[in-house]
Amino acid sequence: MALDIKDVDTYYGSVKVLKGVDFCAVHGELLGVIGPNGSGKTTLLRTISRFLKPKVGTILLEGRDVLGMKDKDFSQVFAAVPQDTTINFDFSALDIVLMGRNPHLGRLERESEKDIEIARRCMERTNCGHLAERPITELSGGERQLVIIARALTQEPKVLLLDEPTSHLDINYQIEIMELLKRLTLHEGLIVIAVIHDLNLAAQYCDRLVLLHEGKIVSLGSQQEVLTAENIKQSFGADVIVKRHALTNLCYVTPVPSTVKRHIEAGASSKNNAEITIHLICGGGEGAGLMHLLSEKGYKVTAGVVNMLDTDCEVAQLLNIPVVTETPFSPITEKAFQAHLALIEKADVVVLCSIPFGFGNLKNIDAVEAALERMGKSVLIFEDKNIEKRDFTGGEATKRFVELKNKGALSIKNQEEVLKKLPVSV
Ligand code: ADP
Repeated sequence: MALDIKDVDTYYGSVKVLKGVDFCAVHGELLGVIGPNGSGKTTLLRTISRFLKPKVGTILLEGRDVLGMKDKDFSQVFAAVPQDTTINFDFSALDIVLMGRNPHLGRLERESEKDIEIARRCMERTNCGHLAERPITELSGGERQLVIIARALTQEPKVLLLDEPTSHLDINYQIEIMELLKRLTLHEGLIVIAVIHDLNLAAQYCDRLVLLHEGKIVSLGSQQEVLTAENIKQSFGADVIVKRHALTNLCYVTPVPSTVKRHIEAGASSKNNAEITIHLICGGGEGAGLMHLLSEKGYKVTAGVVNMLDTDCEVAQLLNIPVVTETPFSPITEKAFQAHLALIEKADVVVLCSIPFGFGNLKNIDAVEAALERMGKSVLIFEDKNIEKRDFTGGEATKRFVELKNKGALSIKNQEEVLKKLPVSV
């Protein structure tokens, strides 16, 4: 079974809102529709659910023209859960769910025992059977949404359309509803098309995503293909970082806060200290704070050697800080070490952050030594955390650390002290 949306244009009056929308959803697929406000998501659902008639294009279900179907036939295969489901009458939840049987009843025909049984079964499927006798007006938003989805399911549809089914719901109900939609597709073979506001929720549960912008599809595919920082910038105008979550291996999107953007812009446009370079030897997130602070003060900052995927590596990339990287969990190779020395050579001051030492990164101490002895650099070393507690080399790192101080490295305890020790442009 497949639902083909073929080259659809939909208008409100003379204004074209959907422009050449063309995609196919298949049996058992949960398709998420995402996009900024006003991009046409609701219009797309209204078009598929025939509230709006497209001026151009066709919609086919299993090759059958959907737009030409009789209303009753259409309602037996398509069900919609609209965005706003305010119900002001004191109907019981079961009464509401039973309304979904209307497309299966003749004119003036009353619901039979079988219809009631179907309604109750649908309430069980959406985990709201216990609410059957409760007045709909007394239910919480999440409970009501489960009832409304149960009503849609009593139509026994093949295609379920939902407009922001999780908005205004707490995280528990968000998960419950998304898991329900997943079950309906995976185990029951429904085609589910849902407008989802929350990009991370969409990434977590949808098989594929359609990204709309100004009424056109700008990206369609897997979450990895669609949820890129470039696509999100282009369509939402928002700066985000997209990463894969270590536990789920799925994308997650984090907004870049305006404070961080201001730091980047302030640093980039600052004339102060721009000719002074501070090199941070960091890792494990120990350099991130200084990267922000020094960039904000206009210093040119460099960093190394950090493992890729390390927080310090991510922050450096975000702030456009040149950084020497090493493969995750790998010891520092000779190549990375030499690249690190080359970067240190260009620095005015070298700062050794409070990093833990193992045999894999002892070369970072070699680099500090080279900075002090061979290059004659000014070196600051953090001693806010006891070196012995972060020495995993059986004492070797502690010994070398003490030697660094004897060779002229200045001990510091916090970021403010670093700032006081740094040269400033005149
Ligand atoms: P989204 O669901 O992505 O927020 P919509 O589909 O609601 O976007 O709206 C798409 C565009 O259509 C917007 O520019 C909106 O102003 C316009 N629009 C929506 N509904 C109507 C309407 N009933 N009459 C005229 N224009 C509308």
